[in-house]
Amino acid sequence: MEKYVCTVCGYIHQGELKNDIICPICKVGFDKFELLESNNTFKDFIVVDKVKENELVTSFYLKLKEGTLKKHKAGEFISVMPIDKGENSKEVRQYTLSMKPGEDFYRISVKKEEMGIVSSYLHNNVEVSDIIKATDSLGEFTLSDSKKPLVLLSGGIGVTPMMSMLYEALESGRDILFIQAVLNSSAHTFKDELEKIVDENSQVKKAIFYQTPLEEDKLNKNYDFEGFVSDRWIKDNVPQNGKFYLCGPVGFMKHIYNTLKSIGINEKEINYEMFGAYQDLAE
Ligand SMILES: Cc1cc2nc3c(=O)[nH]c(=O)nc-3n(C[C@H](O)[C@H](O)[C@H](O)COP(=O)(O)OP(=O)(O)OC[C@H]3O[C@@H](n4cnc5c(N)ncnc54)[C@H](O)[C@@H]3O)c2cc1C
Repeated sequence: MEKYVCTVCGYIHQGELKNDIICPICKVGFDKFELLESNNTFKDFIVVDKVKENELVTSFYLKLKEGTLKKHKAGEFISVMPIDKGENSKEVRQYTLSMKPGEDFYRISVKKEEMGIVSSYLHNNVEVSDIIKATDSLGEFTLSDSKKPLVLLSGGIGVTPMMSMLYEALESGRDILFIQAVLNSSAHTFKDELEKIVDENSQVKKAIFYQTPLEEDKLNKNYDFEGFVSDRWIKDNVPQNGKFYLCGPVGFMKHIYNTLKSIGINEKEINYEMFGAYQDLAE
């Protein structure tokens, strides 16, 4: 049976692709689907490393078992089918590649969802040297060619595309503002990796928000601001001529989107990705 992948969210459609098909996840039409060649659908990847980033998030480093790894564009994801036996063995989920483009491995960084089938399986059952099935990288949430200042704005696990975009954008020399909102240090993913990049690249500035700092979390050490990313802060700190990329919970993105619009940022400059069913932030 033919399989088609939605290039926006990674949903896999099996069977004939009719003109009136709408992706059940992100609501795009048939023109966004691409045929998945049978030999290109799910490939075997070896888990070469498993790194706990914090209490919630673990990164998996994957190498293709055979063949050449497709180089990804920052912001792309892979579809992963990790469960090899039982009733959930055909479950597919999308995970954004969080590493620098051009490496000879893929890295996905997965937040464990309570009762979540695939994320829990990855955290609890998948270990180094195991094989999991995954596709080549795909997706449309990628950086456009631009010299404008880049603003990467994430909430929670939405940081995964931002990390990869940060690496890609470093090459261009443009100014980059990396805004990351998390609960506190228990969910602060890529802290050391980001600090190293900021230390080594003067064009990169960061602003880390802890919604509810823990007692041991120190202002100006673990984080830069307490609370939510407020309207006031956005108005005072983001470049008016910037290109904006958002990823995080829908409520968070909607707030940021509306604030950016209210300060005169054209919606064409605001790009975003949902980690679930698509919603138009303008509506
Ligand atoms: C383009 C894209 C990129 C993504 N990138 C990433 C990424 O980089 N990192 C990442 O972590 N995720 C990412 N996601 C999300 C990821 O694909 C999964 O949706 C996520 O891991 C949850 O899958 P799951 O199988 O663990 O949860 P599911 O089993 O699908 O459950 C979904 C939710 O329902 C809840 N639930 C399930 N059963 C019950 C129940 N009986 N009672 C109450 N609640 C229940 C779960 O807790 C979970 O929150 C991305 C998604 C998309 C579309």
